[in-house]
Amino acid sequence: MSRRAEFVSYAPKSVLNKGKRADHWFWSRYSAYPYLGCQHGCAFCYCREQKYSPFDSPDDFAYVIKAKQNSPELLRRALSRCTRDVVFTGDYQPAERLFHLSRQMLQVCCDLGFPVMVLERSPLVLRDLDVLQAIQGKARAVVAFSIIYTPESSQAGRCRSLENLAPPPEKRFAAMEKIAAAGILTGTCCMPVLPGLCDDGPSLESVVRWTADHGGQFVLSGSLTLADQQRDFFFRILGQHFPDLLDRYQRLYPPGSYAPVHQDWLAVARRIAEFCDRYGIRDRMPRPVIPGEKREFNKRLVEKLADRAYLLEITQQPDSRVWAYRRAAWAVEDLEQDVRLVYQRMGRKGLEQIPGLSGVIIGEIEPQLREESGYKDESAKDSLKLG
Ligand code: SF4
Repeated sequence: MSRRAEFVSYAPKSVLNKGKRADHWFWSRYSAYPYLGCQHGCAFCYCREQKYSPFDSPDDFAYVIKAKQNSPELLRRALSRCTRDVVFTGDYQPAERLFHLSRQMLQVCCDLGFPVMVLERSPLVLRDLDVLQAIQGKARAVVAFSIIYTPESSQAGRCRSLENLAPPPEKRFAAMEKIAAAGILTGTCCMPVLPGLCDDGPSLESVVRWTADHGGQFVLSGSLTLADQQRDFFFRILGQHFPDLLDRYQRLYPPGSYAPVHQDWLAVARRIAEFCDRYGIRDRMPRPVIPGEKREFNKRLVEKLADRAYLLEITQQPDSRVWAYRRAAWAVEDLEQDVRLVYQRMGRKGLEQIPGLSGVIIGEIEPQLREESGYKDESAKDSLKLG
C-alpha cells in the first residue's frame, strides 16, 4: 500500500541563504525554499543527506512535508536588505497546490525586482507563468527542468523507477516548450548523470536533442553525490531493484567518498558539450543579467571567465590554468565598481592592483576593456572576446 503524505506547517526564523557571491552554475547568490522534504522522492536526491534533511529516517523525506508558512514574509524582509542578485527559489511538488508558497515567494521577488532561478521536475510551475513573465519584464527569470533521461533512453524504464513519484520527462519537456514560448530562458539540468543508467552516448544525446527541440537553450550536467544516510538509502534501493548495479556503485562510491572519480564526470561533461554543440545549444547556463543594471559589464565578464574555466576543466587542462580563470572571475565579481572605469582611470596598472587577476588574463581582457572604456594604449595584446 502506498504511503500518504503528511503536511506539517511551521514558522522558521529565516528562509534566505546568502552566498558571498553568485555561483558559476546557476548564477544565483541567494536561495530560499518554502518546503522541507519532497513528494517527488527521487531515489538519488542529495537532499536526504543529514546536512540538508530534518528527518531522522531518509524514508520520511518524500512523505513528511514541512511547509514554512511564513516564508514569503521572511523573504520580503530579508531581500529588502540585500543587493539585487539572482534568487534560487520555487518548489512545485504537489504540496504547492495546497500552500501556494512558491507563488507568493516569486511575487516577492517580482515586487522587489530580483531575478529568479527556478529548477523543477514538475510542470506545475506553469501555473505561475504570469508572475515569471512579470519578473522577466523587470529583472530576469530562468526556469530549468531536471531531466536525466528521455523516453528514447535505452534504460528509460529503470530511470523512471528511480523518480516515479515525479511527473514524467515528457511532461517536463512540454512545460519547457511553453516557458520558452513565453520568452523565458529555459533548459535542462541533467543531474545526476547515473552511471550504467543514463550515461551512455545515445541517452545523453537524446536529452540534449529533446531540450533543443523544446526551446531549451542549455544542458548542464552533474554527477551523483552520496553521503551518510542518503548513501545507505540509495544502495538499498539499488539492491532491491537493480542488484546487478550494486557492486559497480559500491566501487564508485567507497565509504567516505562523496563524488565519483573526477575523470569519469569529465568524460560525461565533454560528451554533453559535444552534443550541445551539435544541436546548437550551450552546456553552460547563460547568466541572467539585467540590461543596464549596475556592474552589468562585470557580470558578463565574470560569465566569460567562468565559462573559460569550465572548458579548461572538462578538457583536462592544468589545474593552475583552471584556477587562474576561476580566481579572476571571483575577483571581477567582487569589484564594487565597473571594471571599465578602473581601466579608464588607471589603465593596465589599475587591473594589476585587483587581487586575483593574473597578467595573462589581464592581457586577454585588456583589448575589450580599451574598446569599451575609450582608453587608448597602443601596447595591447590579443584578447579574450567578450559578448
Ligand atoms: S524533485 Fe528534486 S528535490 Fe525533489 S526529490 Fe527529486 S531531486 Fe529531490
